[in-house]
Parts: sequence; C-alpha cells; structure tokens
Amino acid sequence: MTSPKLHDFRRIVVKVGSSLLIDSAAGEVRAGWLTALAADIAELHRGGRDVMVVSSGSIALGRSRLKLPRGPLKLEESQAAAAVGQIELARTWSEVLGAHGIGAGQILVTFQDTEERRRYLNARSTIGKLLEWHAVPVINENDTVATTEIRYGDNDRLAARVATMASADLLILLSDIDGLYTAPPGSNPDATLIPVVDSITAEIEGMAGAAGSELSRGGMRTKIEAAKIATSAGTHMLIASGKIDHPLKAIAEGGKCTWFLTPANPVTARKRWIAGSLEPKGTLTIDAGAVSALRAGKSLLPAGVIRVDGQFCRGDAVIVRGPDTDEIGRGLVAYDAEDADKIKGRSSPDVMMILGITGRAEMIHRDDLVVGTAPA
Ligand code: GLU
Repeated sequence: MTSPKLHDFRRIVVKVGSSLLIDSAAGEVRAGWLTALAADIAELHRGGRDVMVVSSGSIALGRSRLKLPRGPLKLEESQAAAAVGQIELARTWSEVLGAHGIGAGQILVTFQDTEERRRYLNARSTIGKLLEWHAVPVINENDTVATTEIRYGDNDRLAARVATMASADLLILLSDIDGLYTAPPGSNPDATLIPVVDSITAEIEGMAGAAGSELSRGGMRTKIEAAKIATSAGTHMLIASGKIDHPLKAIAEGGKCTWFLTPANPVTARKRWIAGSLEPKGTLTIDAGAVSALRAGKSLLPAGVIRVDGQFCRGDAVIVRGPDTDEIGRGLVAYDAEDADKIKGRSSPDVMMILGITGRAEMIHRDDLVVGTAPA
C-alpha cells in the first residue's frame, strides 16, 4: 500500500517526547524548535483539522527547576518533580499555541481514565468539547498521582489510547529516530527504513526489539505497542523524526517516516467494539419514528424512547428495540437507567428541566450507536 498524505486526515494526535522538547544539558524547553512545531500545528489547525498534542516533559522540566542531581529518581521524587514541571509544560504550550490565537486545554489522564468505560467516556466528551471549540487539548499522564503498578509510564501507548479514544484518524509519534529500521541503523550500515507497515507481524516486532539506538523513554518497543493499539482501533500511525525544525511540515512534504496503516477506518472499528465486545446492561424500546430516524443515521433522542428496562449506568451498552421488540441496534447510553426513565418520551427542553442540567440531549449519540440493517 502506498503511504497516505498528511492532508488527508481530519483529526490528528501529535506526540512529542521529552528529549525533543527539552534540552537536557540546559534543562530548558527548546524554545525555537517548539515555536516552529507550534507553527506547523497552527497550519494544520487553520486547514480545519482537529489537533491534539500528547506532550511529555513534566518530570524532566521539574527536575531541572528543582535542580535535582542526575541519576534515577524514586517514584515519589519523579511524582513531585512532575508536579513542578507540569505547570511549566502547560504554560509553555499555552504560550506557543496562544501566539497563533489557539487556546490550549490541559488534560492529565491516568491509566484508569482510559480503561474504565465511564471515565473514558467523560474524558472523551471533554476532549470532544475542546475540539468543537477549536482548542488544542494538551495531554500528559497525571504523573503526580500515577503509581508504579498502574501507570502507562510511556507516552507512546498513552498517545495511542488517547488517539483511539478521540476517534483520531492519525497518530504522529515525533521521535529521535525517523522511523522503523530493519536493524539498528547506528551499528548496521545496511539497515533500511521501512516506509510502510501494513500489518505488525512477528518480524516487525523483532525489528523493534533490535532497534536499540533510540533514546527516548519508551524506545521502539513501546512505539510498536502503540501502533498495535492505534491500528487495531482504526487509527493510522506514523513515526517521524522530531529532531528537525518544522517536523510536521516535513511529513506533509513527503519526508522520511514509517507509516503503520490500519485496515479499518475509525468509525467501523469503534462501532465493532460497541456492537461486539460489550455486555448489554439494558434495553430501550423506541417508537416507529425513532426507528426511521436511527436508520437514517440520526442520534436517539429521549422523545423517541417508550420504555426503559434494566439497571444501567451512563456509558453502558444497551440494546435498542423497535415497537415490535425487534432489535434495531446497540449503543452506549448517555444516562443512568433512572434518569433515562424520567426523560423518556420528553422533548429536549423538558429533559433539561427534569434533570436540572444542560447536558447532551441525546439518549444515545449516533457516534455511539450501531444500527443493524433494516429487514427487507
Ligand atoms: N509523562 C512523562 C513526563 O511527562 C513522560 C513519559 C514519556 O517520556 O514517555 O515526564
């Protein structure tokens, strides 16, 4: 398969590693480089794309601000260093993006936030809202509270989870190496860069193990893990060098990189996940008008719901049945069973009044809904 073009993508996550962002000798942000990257991001953003940044650097920056001695840090030390560094990291991103009139929104996530469905959905809707407002979410692991056993530890896999959570169509890992090589390029002059990986085979994984020249925290191994997470959920990924100025412009102009292509597109992969892998916790029975609306690709509104069965919470999977009890589809419901029951059959303004909120009006948003084919 040939490599896609950067401009073909609508929603892009850019992951920036600490070694690119921070000059380790000076302990300072590489301001010139970051300014150039921000200009690239602004260019994509101007083109109407949703852009998210996953940025490392909290521990490294905190370490330098606190003038901690070199050498490995204990967990509590890196947590405290991250607390100091993260403030500065967020301020830096806010400034460089602000220079282009772009608002930056800090999101700190933990492992549980991406693994527990309810927290996952909350984080996802916050990201969705920021993007709707044309802000750029700037995301990092919440290093100050993450404990050793339950943390990502590397932002490669975190970025992949965030990309799939936000239904991004592309994840870009900016690294200190320009892609995946057949062997470690430093010690092997015959090593060649692999421009496109269609599927992550054992052979590809073997190359990751061998490519030990990479300096960043995760190394090539976590990048391949990230590629597995991303591509299996419908997000393409690429690894490119961030050691040059304007790295995104270089990718757009066809510069060296390795693409990991997904066989699926994000919607189908996500919908497969909804349709196949969850235990439905309840049933919503809907009227004939809502059945037609759903089949036409619309969201399910409370007004179309005639009956609510089961004990479910917001974010749980439920079955949607027509008035004749035929299964119409499945989806992730936006309300707890009790609230769903209160607002069934009601118009959107009523829903706001009954629940005293100004939340989403949909009972199931169409992005969270899989509708089966209509009987012939
Ligand atoms: N979350 C860590 C930090 O901001 C970095 C993890 C990584 O380098 O992959 O310092």
